[in-house]
Amino acid sequence: MKKNPIISILTASVLIVLACQSPLTTATATLTPATSTASATQTETPAPTLTASATLAPIIKRVLIVSFDGLRPDAIAAAPMPSLEQLMQGGAYSLRAQTTYPSLTLPAHTSMLTGECPYKHKVTWNDYIPENGIALGTDLFDLAYAAGLRTVMIVGKLKLAEVITAPESLSLFEFHPEGESVIAARAADEMRNGFGVMFVHFPTPDLQGHEFGWMSEEQFASLREADGALGVLLAGLNLNGLRETTLVIVTADHGGHDTTHGTDSLEDMTIPWVISGPGVISQELSIPIHTMDTAATAAFMLNLVRPAEWDGLPVLQAFGLPSPVRGPLVCR
Ligand SMILES: [Zn+2]
Repeated sequence: MKKNPIISILTASVLIVLACQSPLTTATATLTPATSTASATQTETPAPTLTASATLAPIIKRVLIVSFDGLRPDAIAAAPMPSLEQLMQGGAYSLRAQTTYPSLTLPAHTSMLTGECPYKHKVTWNDYIPENGIALGTDLFDLAYAAGLRTVMIVGKLKLAEVITAPESLSLFEFHPEGESVIAARAADEMRNGFGVMFVHFPTPDLQGHEFGWMSEEQFASLREADGALGVLLAGLNLNGLRETTLVIVTADHGGHDTTHGTDSLEDMTIPWVISGPGVISQELSIPIHTMDTAATAAFMLNLVRPAEWDGLPVLQAFGLPSPVRGPLVCR
């Protein structure tokens, strides 16, 4: 419930510094849940002998998480999005991952990055309300920053500020309303300074969906532009010699239907989940994946100890490893 003193100086265009490979043949998504219910998440049966240090963590130095706001999996091929499709071809992916309910930007991104269901992190609102404070619990940025890693968040919606994590857990936070090209250029440039966890958010596909409809030509155009911005990020990794030691996760906060989202329909709840980097085996993932698994996978691969209350599990199948056994747990 901390109040961020810098929030008052956030302006429309200001940059805020707080401190300091199998061929892809199935790009067409089917909106079929990978679990029996869209709201189900899992509990973990511990696999005590399996640690990241025993597997791949030594060669994974950092994690880049990219969220396309409002990206439905079936829009990837329809848009199309060649940069993301190329990442899928060389990596592992699911086009049936599930977000949390309500399928709204703030609650979903908070689950993505805290590893917790909304009833735990308590962020169930979707507009910035300062008096509501920030997400409860320990999130991915808290863990990474405490471990001495540089944490970076560059977003295209101001409301993502000061809700997901405490400002003191971010080495750098920037908000850019100008769109994907500016966001990607700044993020790629910032890679020169190194990072442990970088979260980049592309807002426009959601905005176009609300104005013109999900799966509209206008939204496809914004997805193509955002896809180009993803290419800029990947080029930034290459340019800085980081690609071979960086885990990249690309996902979305929710899907959408007509000109809205927020329901528990498959169109709203189903999201893509793509992972690429050292040790990732090219495949379509068969296990159920929930958005909380993004934080869990990043933490695991960075050798950060996940809080016991996290609902997310590391997606070890992507690395050809046995995944933790999951049981049913209602996430709302
Ligand atoms: Zn959203």
